[in-house]
Amino acid sequence: MLLLIPGPVQTRPEVRACMAEDIAPWDEDFRAEYAAMRPRIVKIAGGVEGRHVSLPLPGCGHMIIESAIRTFVPAGAKLLVVRNGGYAERLARLAETAGRVVVALDGPDHEPMAPERLARALAENPDCGHVALVVSETGTGIVNDPNILGPVIAAAGRRMICDAVSGFGALPFSIDAHPECDVVVFTSNKCLEGLPGFGFAVAPIARLEACRGQAGSWVMDLVDVYDHALKNGWGSFRFTPAVQALRAFGKAMEIYEAEGGQPARFARYSRNRDVMYAGLQALGFTPYVAPEHQGPIIVNVYQPVDPNWNLETFQRMMKARGVILSDFSSTKKPSMRFGCIGAIGEEDIRFALKQAEAVLQEMGVGQRAVAA
Ligand SMILES: *Cc1c(COP(=O)(O)O)cnc(C)c1O
Repeated sequence: MLLLIPGPVQTRPEVRACMAEDIAPWDEDFRAEYAAMRPRIVKIAGGVEGRHVSLPLPGCGHMIIESAIRTFVPAGAKLLVVRNGGYAERLARLAETAGRVVVALDGPDHEPMAPERLARALAENPDCGHVALVVSETGTGIVNDPNILGPVIAAAGRRMICDAVSGFGALPFSIDAHPECDVVVFTSNKCLEGLPGFGFAVAPIARLEACRGQAGSWVMDLVDVYDHALKNGWGSFRFTPAVQALRAFGKAMEIYEAEGGQPARFARYSRNRDVMYAGLQALGFTPYVAPEHQGPIIVNVYQPVDPNWNLETFQRMMKARGVILSDFSSTKKPSMRFGCIGAIGEEDIRFALKQAEAVLQEMGVGQRAVAA
């Protein structure tokens, strides 16, 4: 089966094979394996040993995002959320439920947040100490680039929290070049092509030291993850981890580094995206995002308005032909997503497009373009 969803992604057999073994996480051999992974994670985030640390936490992406917000934003404090997509809405909900006060900066969901608008919002909200942004918005495929928005946040003297989950490892980012960044979070199962089960935060040590005791949670306190490592070693765990997923992530990092790291992955996904974007247009679909705003993670198109169209039917018929797609969208107008990430290449995208062409014909969907 070919997974063309924006996570969990298609993985390589060597990565999946890591799941087939029983492992004792507290065994000294595994402790050494885990301890050796942590500086590699820091390096992938562009961090510097001694200045930044990696803080892994078992669970899904939302867990690590909430942990980051709890750890760095004090309860009752205001947080400006760049809210221009479905995942940003989720982030705002997480923060609010955790007792942080969200000031939303809403934007159209088909283009990145303009730096001028963020600068104005920060000037108007001097009491927002932090800005949280979703880097690659998985609902639409746009990118709020921290390399553009970070300097705006720095100039206003505020701190940045990056939900980099969907694009981390493919989009260029170096935490050491962003002194305004408190934390960048990502997971094992998106562009790093591991299996689901782990979230990761990379943060400056100085900021962790300054944020002790404000998470309001033991499980989700990233400072506690750090303190535990200081006390018990970098190969130790506080609670039972998804240990096989962690070993698989180590294998995935090996493959990532051998492929050429971020530039190579960005290049491969960009090719996938180009083939997908052009191919969907050739099938008659209307893209949700203009080419100049289109990131390399997913391509989103409007759903046809043809009376024969039905997303669930399309999804089911594609699955019967070996391609798994998302069967929901998080945009205001009905759309659908085609993932470009994972251990796949342009030949896989071409295969999927060919199946889509056949399914559309079988369904009798002739009118595919939509007045956007
Ligand atoms: C996938 C994703 C998440 C996390 O999703 P989980 O289902 O909680 O793992 C968070 N933010 C973005 C932008 C994502 O793409």
